[in-house]
Formats: sequence, structure tokens, C-alpha cells
Amino acid sequence: MLRYISKVLTVFAASMAVSCSGTAKSGSGTPLPEYHGLYTPSNTKELQEALHTNHPDYDWGLWGHNLVKAIQGGNGEDMYAVIGGKRTKDQLCFSSPALYQAVRSYIIDQFGYGDENYSERITIMPMDNTLACTCPRCRKLGNTEGNATPAVTYFITKLAREFPRHQFFTSAYHSTMKAPSTILPSNVGVFISSFPLPVQVDFTKSKGYLSFVSTVQAWRRKCSRIYIWDYERNFDDYLSPFPCLLAMQSRLRLYERLGLRGVFFNGSGDDYSSFDDMQTQVLAQLMDNPELDVRKAVSAYFKRYYPVTASLLTSYYWGLEQRAKQSNCVLPLYGSMQELCEAYLDPGVFVRFRKKLDQVSKQTEGDERDRLNALLTALAYTQLEMYRCGLLTKDADTAAEMLLILKGHSEIKGMANRDEVGHSIDEYLKAWK
Ligand SMILES: [Zn+2]
Repeated sequence: MLRYISKVLTVFAASMAVSCSGTAKSGSGTPLPEYHGLYTPSNTKELQEALHTNHPDYDWGLWGHNLVKAIQGGNGEDMYAVIGGKRTKDQLCFSSPALYQAVRSYIIDQFGYGDENYSERITIMPMDNTLACTCPRCRKLGNTEGNATPAVTYFITKLAREFPRHQFFTSAYHSTMKAPSTILPSNVGVFISSFPLPVQVDFTKSKGYLSFVSTVQAWRRKCSRIYIWDYERNFDDYLSPFPCLLAMQSRLRLYERLGLRGVFFNGSGDDYSSFDDMQTQVLAQLMDNPELDVRKAVSAYFKRYYPVTASLLTSYYWGLEQRAKQSNCVLPLYGSMQELCEAYLDPGVFVRFRKKLDQVSKQTEGDERDRLNALLTALAYTQLEMYRCGLLTKDADTAAEMLLILKGHSEIKGMANRDEVGHSIDEYLKAWK
């Protein structure tokens, strides 16, 4: 709680500096001075203070597309958008006085007005689709089909003025991609998605790079508080290795150059992911210092938490990072085993590594043994996927052994699902039968 309050005060000092100087420069001289979000299972509440990280479950009042939940019980058709001349509950109308009253009451009820020691972060985003209200009021504000930025800007500016101690965030996404035409109050920020930037070590020759930078620059002219919504996991497969650290370092260097104030790395949430313990730690260090020596940081982590198997883990994991760097492959945010193997995963090298790790793990004990048990269980899934996709020659005995190991997932905390959709490992095991 103390950490949170001091962070809020820092944020306020920074926002005052911005509003007084009248520029949108970051001011503090440190990279990403305000928000280091990591949505990963290893970014636990206990570790956040030591890692200087944030987690929206603990430091965000209203997050994501949850605005509609906040207005449940509020009455009036008028809160909903008019699309093609018809009222629909699929989207909100941001010029609606009824919507404003409902959100205002929710804020007062849940958070009050804030005081010198307490401020809340509140996200005001349209529902997750491309619809934009074109009722007469919204049109008058400037909305057009597919562009809701004018009405959302009107709405969030009004809230920011009524609740100057809270911070409000919108997003450059779907119908709010276009930057506003007016300068936003200093307690309004925006999340810009990094999605156009391919996840690769050198993205500077990609089309997405130019479009991302131009979106950031357009918003910078109107908003001093820009956070990036970033992605650091293969959302189709949480269990297989995903060597994203050098690619994330390149992105963080860019964010620092652009003077951005925060980042939110979307990972596997509460679900187990291979190497997530090490990657969470190194990503946290990279957010503090994008010039970090990543290899040293990886090696130091493994030495500390995996004293017996550190050199094996470092050499394998760093090999993946190097392969991704040398080929400059795009790491797929939604990728099949076939695509992972085309990008960075060599099935033969993987099988030898997994087998060796399994042997050596038998000499470990305590915490290291527990961590390896979880990792080896996840990697059994990777090997099964390699058989299933024909990337390894079928071997019934070894596949049976991998199935047996994967069955142990039910004993491991957080290891029920294998992807973002929530496909369970149990279903997968059943399908193998
Ligand atoms: Zn409207």
C-alpha cells in the first residue's frame, strides 16, 4: 500500500511538471517513469515492490473494457450507441448525459474524489468492437462512422475535470485509434497498442514500425501521458519456450526514445508459462534499464534459483534468444508448433535439452526441484506437440512417457490451461487417448 501511495504521489509530481511546463516531455529523465505493468504469474504481489513492477489487479481501479460493468443498473436506452440509425447495446454513446451520470455515480461510490494521498486509475474505453455512435449529439461533437474519438474525448475530459485527483485512461484502439483534436487534461492518459510492431529484434524495416511511431507521435501532440499496451507471450501456447527478451529490449529502447511514461506487458495472466519466472525478473530489470546486459541477467537469475542446472538452462535459453536474433524472425503472438519451429525452436536440440534437464533435475532439491518439475511438465507438452505436428518422428514409448509427465500438471499451481482461450491440459490429454 505504501509503495502504491508513493507511486501515486510521484505520478502527480510528474503530471504537475508536465502541466506547468506545457510540454509533453517525460521530465523525470528515467525510462517509463510511471508504470511497469506485467500481467504474468511470476509478478506476484510479494515480488512487485522488489521488482518495481505494477499489476493491474492491485493498482488499477477500473481496467480494460469493464466500463459496461460499472454502469449496470444505470437506466436509460440513451446510454447506448446509435449505429446505422438504430440503437444497439453493442456499444456506448459517450455524449449521453445518462452514461455520464452512471459513471460519475460509480466513481463516487467506489473511489470517492481522492485526496492528497489517494488517487485511482480509471479506464474509459468503448466496448471491444469497431462501432462508433453516430447519434445527432455524437455527430455534432465530430464522431463519424468508425471514429468515436471526439465523443470519448469529450466524456473523459469532463470526468478528468470533475475528478482532478484521479487519473483517466483511454486507448488508441478500434474506434479510438485517431488522436483527439484538442489537448487532453494532464490527468488523462492513453494506452497505445504495440500490435503493429512485429515482435522481432530489429523491427525498424517493418511497415508496422512506421505506423506505430506515427500513431504515438499524433497522440503525443495531444496527450502527455502515453502508456504502451504490449505483448510478451505466444497466446496460443503458454507452455512452450518463447524467447522474447531481446525483442522486448528493442521495444523498450524505442519507448524510452519516444519519451513514453509506462508500459503494460500482457503475458499469460495467472496461467503457468515456461521460463516465466526468469523472464518476468529480466523484463522488470529491462523496464528499469533498457540497456541491461540481458545475457548476464538471464545467467544471474538461473544461478540464483537453479544452482545445479543453471549452466544447462542458460545455454539452452540463450541459444533460443540468439537464434531469434540472428534470423531476426518474427515471434508469433499466436503461433502453432510448426511456426515456432520455423522461427526459433529446433526439435532435435529441444529433445536433447529436455532429456538432459530431466536427468540432472534428479540431483536437485527443494525450490529448484519444484521449479524444474513444473518446467519439465510444461516441456512435455512441447514435445507432444512436436510429435503431433510431425516435427519429430513418431516414438510411441517416449510419447507415452511425455503424456505421463504432463498428467502431473494437476499437482502444479496455475497449470490448468495451455493458452489464452483457456483450452485445458486435461482436454488435451483426453484428445491424445
Ligand atoms: Zn451518441
